[in-house]
Amino acid sequence: MKRLVCRYRSDEEGYLVAVLDCGHGLHMRHRPPFELRPWTLTPEGRASRVGTEASCVRCDRFERPAEWVEYKRSQTFDAAGLPAALGRDHGLREGVWAELRVHSGALTLSACDATEGPWVLAAPSTMNIAPGWRHRVTLGPGCSFDLVFYRAPDATPAGEH
Ligand SMILES: [Zn+2]
Repeated sequence: MKRLVCRYRSDEEGYLVAVLDCGHGLHMRHRPPFELRPWTLTPEGRASRVGTEASCVRCDRFERPAEWVEYKRSQTFDAAGLPAALGRDHGLREGVWAELRVHSGALTLSACDATEGPWVLAAPSTMNIAPGWRHRVTLGPGCSFDLVFYRAPDATPAGEH
């Protein structure tokens, strides 16, 4: 998935890591002749890349950032009480990951761009949902599920959708 570079930090070995808006880090090494990123060597060069796009393979694998913290849980939804918005194309806002937990029955999660999936999740199972990833949910008979929301340890978002 395409993500935005928010800022930089150093890893334990002093290598530069770009922090993306999904919460994942991406190593930015300058190791001639194998990897050429001379812009990483100056503050101006690094600043010039803030706000640019990068591909995040960890989002592609739906890996929730390990250090993100739970801050809210939804009610338990079933077919009768499913908010219409969840059955249409929608996505989490930036800065929020969710874990969808199927407690009974099964549901189908479809990606709006249809590049992957759909995924059929039968109880008990869970799936991480990445920020901004457009999807929709279709419930099977007797299905119930809820959502656990996560944010960065230093964040205070206003809502989920
Ligand atoms: Zn990511």
